[in-house]
Amino acid sequence: MQASSGPPPAPVTVASAGSAPVVHDEAPPRIALFGDIHANLEALETVLADAREQGCNQFICMGDVVGYNADPAACLEIVRAMDCPVVKGNHDEDASGSHSLESMNPVAATALEWTRRQLSEEQRTWLRRLRMVRQVSDFTVVHSTLDQPANWNYVTNRFDAMSNFSYQFTSVCFHGHTHVPRVYLKNDKVEEIPAESVVIEAGSKYFINVGSVGQPRDGDWRACYAIYDLAHRLVVFRRLEYDLATTQQKILAAGLPEMLAHRLAEGR
Ligand code: ZN
Repeated sequence: MQASSGPPPAPVTVASAGSAPVVHDEAPPRIALFGDIHANLEALETVLADAREQGCNQFICMGDVVGYNADPAACLEIVRAMDCPVVKGNHDEDASGSHSLESMNPVAATALEWTRRQLSEEQRTWLRRLRMVRQVSDFTVVHSTLDQPANWNYVTNRFDAMSNFSYQFTSVCFHGHTHVPRVYLKNDKVEEIPAESVVIEAGSKYFINVGSVGQPRDGDWRACYAIYDLAHRLVVFRRLEYDLATTQQKILAAGLPEMLAHRLAEGR
């Protein structure tokens, strides 16, 4: 134990422009990892309230803030105001560009054309400037995969995960994109392990899909996100019911494709 005299050092106070000073009391990081919000305001608010209740003191967004559902501007402003690391998703890219969406699936394209009209040029610029990959603390964050982040590859089996691992130089990488919570573990081989509580062991690598806040596709309609408790090296997944009926009504009232409202109830 280190010898010390006198009182413990005072917490560091950092003044941030335009708001009250932020006091870093060196609470161990509990990080909320959330993404694939897809303009679902009710799900986003539910997830953020839960994360704060769970004692999360850092937030990281996996991208796809917009697309599919009816509240792109409101969700974007909430995430932007959090001033947390955010990586770019394919819907963020498509909603902030002006390229043709013809090659996309027609429902997603219709929603993206609508989304482009809901966002200001300034909001679109914020989306366009998001980075593809971020390193935070000792882990990495990407929307799809680290091997070709701009190709938006989907990881649905351990062979897809292997391609990612060849480019993963941190022990943990969090991602999203498929809207299905999944955990791949790499030791001498790569295997999928249950997306439940995961203890991060030294010497192993983990590629963790944190699921989707606003459009889960694993058959469970409830909003999904993950918490990384750094002190205990523990990742847990959270599932939360939210006001689905309101989200569905907004989709229909906006004139978006009806199937976008129906699929939310199915978790597909
Ligand atoms: Zn998505």
